[in-house]
Amino acid sequence: MHSSNPHLLVVGSVAIDWIITPHAEREESVGGSATFFAMAASYLSRVRLVGVVGGDFPQAAIGDLRDRGVDLTGLEVIADGKTFRWKGRYHDNMNDRTTLATDLNVFESFTPKLPPEFRGSDFLFLANIQPKLQEQVFTQMQRPRLVGLDTMNLWISIANEELRSVLRHVDVLTLNDEEARQLSGEHNLVKAARGVQRLGPKNLVIKRGESGALLFDHEGHVFAAPALPLEEVIDPTGAGDSFAGGFMGYLARPGVEPTGASLRTAMIYGSVMASFCVEGFSYDRLRQLDTASIQHRFEAFSSLTNFARANLLD
Ligand code: AMP
Repeated sequence: MHSSNPHLLVVGSVAIDWIITPHAEREESVGGSATFFAMAASYLSRVRLVGVVGGDFPQAAIGDLRDRGVDLTGLEVIADGKTFRWKGRYHDNMNDRTTLATDLNVFESFTPKLPPEFRGSDFLFLANIQPKLQEQVFTQMQRPRLVGLDTMNLWISIANEELRSVLRHVDVLTLNDEEARQLSGEHNLVKAARGVQRLGPKNLVIKRGESGALLFDHEGHVFAAPALPLEEVIDPTGAGDSFAGGFMGYLARPGVEPTGASLRTAMIYGSVMASFCVEGFSYDRLRQLDTASIQHRFEAFSSLTNFARANLLD
């Protein structure tokens, strides 16, 4: 029996970022793949988080996640350890970025141990972190209905075998276009998608920043979601994770079944949450939302691609 009010479990990084954009800089910006995911998903479903931080992680950020109703029973705090740190610089187009530093710190010796009640979670998202840790979480789960995963170029390069191993269990994979090319060895995106699907994930979401996102689904269909043209992008960090949070958060809502149609709707909720994320540093914008503002933006996405049908053959 499926639970009538499902739980969505995320494991991933909880981080302190140093962000440099062409317009501004923030040195201690709370980030991490699991953080953005949880913040975004918390508006749509019941979220549980597994991760680790050091004693330097701001208490206020823990409070922010709690205020959003995120269950932090699985967040380990190593008082004398240092939080994962990432430093990145965005190029002038605010889309491409260069990683300047990645310090795994407490993630280096982290072995995730799921609280017993987390193991029965209905939905699982393995947000970007070492593939070995993603697999360790997966193996502790009882029988999740849907497993999503995100990763990045670093792990495709240095932990390819581990990544391929965990991918065999994944229903939905999110990657950006370069990562899809890197993982498949194909330049053409359609061929790259087919190559990635052969590794396990029946559904693949390719994120393309300001060009939106593509879904290659288990029925062989392709769906394109636009990105909202925004006047001001403050900080793109976490857009991919927020997309995943909106996407999985929608699928984990009571009564939603993961059909092709609901995967497409999930693509729009993902795009909505990503569009909010980039409007501020860290999760500044994400934490101030409410259901009405999210639904309002969902409608804006719908008008963006709403056109009158015409037929030259009539
Ligand atoms: P996104 O912009 O959605 O790709 O995610 C950005 C977030 O990913 C930042 O907040 C970083 O802390 C986090 N991040 C960057 N590199 C890594 C990594 N190697 N493993 C896990 N998380 C990372």
